Amino acid sequence: MSHELTTGPLWTGDYYNEGSGKEGLDKLKEECGVFGVFKHPDAASLSYYGLHALQHRGEESAGMCVSDGNEFHYHRGMGLVKEVFTKDLMQTLTGDISIGHVRYSTSGDSKLTNAQPLVFKYRDGDLAVATNGNIVNAPTIRRELEQGGSIFQTTSDTEVIAHLIARSPKGLVEAAKDAFQRIVGGYAFLIMTNDKLLVASDPHGLRPLTMGKLGDAYLFASETCALETIGAELIRDIEPGELLVLDADGLHEDRFDHHKHRKALCAMEYIYFARPDSDMNGANQHAARKRMGSRMAIESFVDADLVTGVPDSSISAAIGYAEQTGIPYELGMIKNKYTGRTFIQPSQELREQGVKMKLSAVRRVVEGKRVVMIDDSIVRGTTSRRIVNMLRDAGATEVHVRITSPPFKNPCFYGIDTPDSRELIASQLSVEEICREINADSLSFLSPDGLITSIQGDNQDDYKGGLCLACFDNDYPTRLDFGGEEKFGCSC
Ligand code: SF4
Repeated sequence: MSHELTTGPLWTGDYYNEGSGKEGLDKLKEECGVFGVFKHPDAASLSYYGLHALQHRGEESAGMCVSDGNEFHYHRGMGLVKEVFTKDLMQTLTGDISIGHVRYSTSGDSKLTNAQPLVFKYRDGDLAVATNGNIVNAPTIRRELEQGGSIFQTTSDTEVIAHLIARSPKGLVEAAKDAFQRIVGGYAFLIMTNDKLLVASDPHGLRPLTMGKLGDAYLFASETCALETIGAELIRDIEPGELLVLDADGLHEDRFDHHKHRKALCAMEYIYFARPDSDMNGANQHAARKRMGSRMAIESFVDADLVTGVPDSSISAAIGYAEQTGIPYELGMIKNKYTGRTFIQPSQELREQGVKMKLSAVRRVVEGKRVVMIDDSIVRGTTSRRIVNMLRDAGATEVHVRITSPPFKNPCFYGIDTPDSRELIASQLSVEEICREINADSLSFLSPDGLITSIQGDNQDDYKGGLCLACFDNDYPTRLDFGGEEKFGCSC
């Protein structure tokens, strides 16, 4: 049973992060979050709270599919989890297996048909798929499938995996293994049938996926904060190349890839995307960000009167910088949490006057002060310039910018929405030139070594600390050459 709902057009831009499409993109966007439940009588409610905890990973659509063992009950809608799932609707989502999804998408792609989980009928029953990430060779596989007669319902490349499974003469698990061996990219997949749940992570572990338990029920989530929210016990992260199968006999730990690959969890999860209360690979995000700030202070100290972090993602790093230097941490900026989505779009004139929808400087804090401003990354540079100018307008006498990641120079092929590399300011300008462009008194980026050490500490047995740093160093963990058909961005 499906219940689909759309709301009216929403304006999601704001003064300091204008535009929801690639044209206006000046902040990297996490692409999706997934949440799965196996064998809990209240699977839908757990999914609701789990997805709510993952809301920061995608605010544009939300969906959930629940199996009662015989049929699927599902719902997808545009909007936040709390907007999409009403109390009445939740009562229709009965069953004990569930997969759920929150999605961010580019503006041209913002359609309900692409909201997940995607649900299909195939020869053995029902199939639902939810993913976080991107399949780099999806266009090539999709073209082959279409030439072979497949008809796609959506523009989402997640559908590719469903077609590969449905067309295979093998049973579900073997068909899924073949499908995962065909696709190249960074992904975390949840696949559900009427009585099974399959859980997979790409061979490099690019996208995070973790497993927990609540009583006898198994839970899967993009971040541990979702497990914590529902009182579940964290069991472990899903290993790269792993395929977990959950059925009437319980959990089966299997693999679809037996080769030894470089482990490469997305470093941006630590720098910016994940919630500070989440852990990945055993490292807590808040603690890792504090270490980045502390290391930043060692690498590029500047004397100042106060340290402030661009909320929310850079507050932890700013505390670390302040602790390391002894310069006081202050709340130099305030984020308005209630304006992310509004029906009322300011006129161009009001925008030019500087309507501060999202971020305001605290004048009484920064006035007459030399400020160290910590931020996580610079994409196009427009947001940084606005924030620096906002601090100056509020009376800061100096603004020194410290970025807790290396210069972001290359697009992401593994599920993060990034502009074309020509629009990435660090791929075009030197650090000195960027400093002038954003109107800062000084600018420094964290070194790659500093980043790896901050995240992994001494546990650096893996190549590059087991991290993907490709958007900084152009060293992509997978092949990318698919005859010009390779796809970057997100498949979700
Ligand atoms: S290229 Fe950058 S954003 Fe993409 S997965 Fe690698 S580290 Fe993350």
